[in-house]
Amino acid sequence: MSDIHEVYAVKYGRHERKKAENYIGGDPHDTNEPIDYFVWAIKGPSGNFVVDTGFDTAMAKKRRRKLDRPIPEGLKAIDVEAEKVENVIVTHLHYDHCGNYDIFPNARFHLQDMEMAYASGRCMCHQHLRIPFEEEDVVAMVRKVFAGRVTFHDGAQQIAPGITVHKIGGHSKGLQCVCVKTKRGTVVLASDTTHLYSHINEGRVFPITYNVGEVLDGYDTMRRLATSPNHVVPGHDPLVLQYYPAAKAGLEGWVARLDVDPKTA
Ligand SMILES: [Zn+2]
Ligand SMILES: [Zn+2]
Repeated sequence: MSDIHEVYAVKYGRHERKKAENYIGGDPHDTNEPIDYFVWAIKGPSGNFVVDTGFDTAMAKKRRRKLDRPIPEGLKAIDVEAEKVENVIVTHLHYDHCGNYDIFPNARFHLQDMEMAYASGRCMCHQHLRIPFEEEDVVAMVRKVFAGRVTFHDGAQQIAPGITVHKIGGHSKGLQCVCVKTKRGTVVLASDTTHLYSHINEGRVFPITYNVGEVLDGYDTMRRLATSPNHVVPGHDPLVLQYYPAAKAGLEGWVARLDVDPKTA
């Protein structure tokens, strides 16, 4: 059986912000550097996989983020029916990666042991560490555990032939990236292991961070896992939609195809 997959980035939201907000230590340039919000879809011989579940309209309002397009719409545009998806990989439990938990009623959720321990344990006693988490999101994942719908992973593990997860930690203690075998080689869906290209390329670190050393080691790990630096896809960079072609005509600026070479990176 072939283990070659198609991979897509589906944008669903945006946050306008100053560049200085994206780096520990700030940035001397007084310019804007917005971030985009994505989920990712993987299509292949083992079926359709979705990576992360984003946030919904209510959360966008609460967190003052812009929600461009509901996630089921973006997935539908590439013929992925959310209600039929059987496997969802959750990179970590931050609010912008694990909401919308009812739009995948038939899915099993893949999560690192450490992320659940972190999001439901002693670190959440600290207000500063709670900031990127939402109580209801974490509780919803605990409920899925009790419903028998969560598969836990510890470190590097195969989800299906050609799809593996790798614990990176750093930004969130149990954060994982996803490696996907494609016709152009191994693509690394970095999620928040590198928010923007500038983080991995310049060795800089996003302010929300549990462990700076793990973030920086994670950049090396991803470079090792990916076929080339051009195979690492950051989790929040608007450039992704410029570098990669639209999945099909009409989806420009919304859904991009990641298993073809980017124009530049
Ligand atoms: Zn995050
Ligand atoms: Zn994020």
